Amino acid sequence: MRIRSAESIRMRPWSVTAPGPRPRPLWLQQALDRDPGTAAPTLDAVVSADVCIVGGGFTGLWTAVRLLEADPSLSVVVVEADICGSGASGRNSGGVGHYWTKLGMLARVLGREDALRLIESSVRAAPQVIELCDRYGVDAQPRVGRSVWAATTRSQVDSWASILRTADALGVRTPYRPLQDEELREMYGPAPYLAGVVQDGQTGVQPGYLVRGLRRVALDLGARIFEQSPVVSIDSMSDQVAVLTERGQVNADQVVLGANAWMAHLPDFRRHVMVLSSDCVATDPIPELVVERGLDRRPPGINSRLMVNYGGVSRDKRIYLGRAGGTVARDARITPEFDRSTRNARQMEADFRYLYPQLPEVRLTTWWSGAVDRSVSGLPWFGRMRHDPRIHFGIGFTGHGVAATVTGGDILASHVLGRDDEWADLGRLLARVHESSSTFPPEPARYLGGRVVQGALYRKETAERDGRRVRRVDAALARLAPGTFVELRAGSGSTP
Ligand SMILES: Cc1cc2nc3c(=O)[nH]c(=O)nc-3n(C[C@H](O)[C@H](O)[C@H](O)COP(=O)(O)OP(=O)(O)OC[C@H]3O[C@@H](n4cnc5c(N)ncnc54)[C@H](O)[C@@H]3O)c2cc1C
Repeated sequence: MRIRSAESIRMRPWSVTAPGPRPRPLWLQQALDRDPGTAAPTLDAVVSADVCIVGGGFTGLWTAVRLLEADPSLSVVVVEADICGSGASGRNSGGVGHYWTKLGMLARVLGREDALRLIESSVRAAPQVIELCDRYGVDAQPRVGRSVWAATTRSQVDSWASILRTADALGVRTPYRPLQDEELREMYGPAPYLAGVVQDGQTGVQPGYLVRGLRRVALDLGARIFEQSPVVSIDSMSDQVAVLTERGQVNADQVVLGANAWMAHLPDFRRHVMVLSSDCVATDPIPELVVERGLDRRPPGINSRLMVNYGGVSRDKRIYLGRAGGTVARDARITPEFDRSTRNARQMEADFRYLYPQLPEVRLTTWWSGAVDRSVSGLPWFGRMRHDPRIHFGIGFTGHGVAATVTGGDILASHVLGRDDEWADLGRLLARVHESSSTFPPEPARYLGGRVVQGALYRKETAERDGRRVRRVDAALARLAPGTFVELRAGSGSTP
């Protein structure tokens, strides 16, 4: 029986895509081609669970795995609108980053010791990914190596300087080492890499393999997963929480919301999270050209634009290139452009030609986009919904959820299990950062302002790339862009 209560969370009608089959991003498609996995049913009945998790991305699946590892007797249900991994988790560039770029802000808000504790926890995410892959036989193609944070126009040079200065003042060593000119030439040849810092020991994964592997591990540990089952509402009853899908219902003692950008419209989050796209383009595999043109010497990495470019060479020897912040969502509505934006891909072709002058004849043959839940601080936070402490959430991963969802799974598991441990403590630190952050403007000012600022930023960075003069008005408006993508993405160079 469906009983409505006054306290209800309304998810938006699930319509993410244009007519026809939803386009799958490259990394997820590769994972599905390698192993589609055990089919998961649609939820069309009333079932009970100790914990119901909404969303089958990294957040939901890491949480399911950590809960079942901690207590195999728990009954855990995951309800996913499409298929597991169809959101950001199956379409990112797989960089398992860290919070070093947040050192200054974290030290200001938390103090030196707690800032370093949080950064250290983010650094531990990469070994945790590798440990999970080893323990459960998940082949997510982890690669550990160098990653570069570079300047590809003159205005980007020294973007990392303030972090290095803060680290000096605090007496700590960051993982960054400035690159010498010869090293840059050796790595990038004729490409316009003017300066940069390099870090060793950076982990990258093929994200589609990781998220589908987590799905398999969750199933093996006993989770029940329902796919093609969009949640419509979540009703707080006196004894349980009712998670309603179009054709079924999960009655659970506790709920975990892991629906990323698709829950950014909820009142608890709407002033704290802005939905932006991140867009990717890729070539076909070009193994001979990669060697012939010296691209195998080029580590994955990012540049220092605000609409940051990230990319590298994939394991199957494609060149892939991403760019953050191409589309701004109006009132957190996720339109088909967040699956695949040909407009953004066209813009990025010019970036590709600029950053890969060695490959003038190579075509970009695939492109996709994804929704990013950009928080004000650039860090996620984990908590309980204001109206019902039985409903937990993790949101605000911005551009670096591959690592943050690993820690997030542990934090959310501790919240659900009522444990007061190191993970709950990290959750409290992130909550302090969140509470100290400002908010985004309300709609429609946020969308309209966001479009104006984003347009100016695009024109400014395009002019810089093309060696043209930046219009004063664009430079002034671009300064209003929230925070920087650079600091969010600097740990995220990767190699799917
Ligand atoms: C193009 C791109 C590149 C990126 N690159 C990097 C990177 O290199 N490194 C990095 O650290 N981070 C990167 N990120 C960010 C990272 O991918 C995300 O932070 C992370 O995947 C978030 O995981 P999640 O589980 O919270 O969200 P998602 O993977 O989006 O999962 C949310 C799930 O909820 C489901 N859902 C939504 N609504 C409902 C509903 N009503 N009912 C049921 N289910 C629902 C969705 O279908 C989806 O599967 C990138 C993101 C993008 C888009």
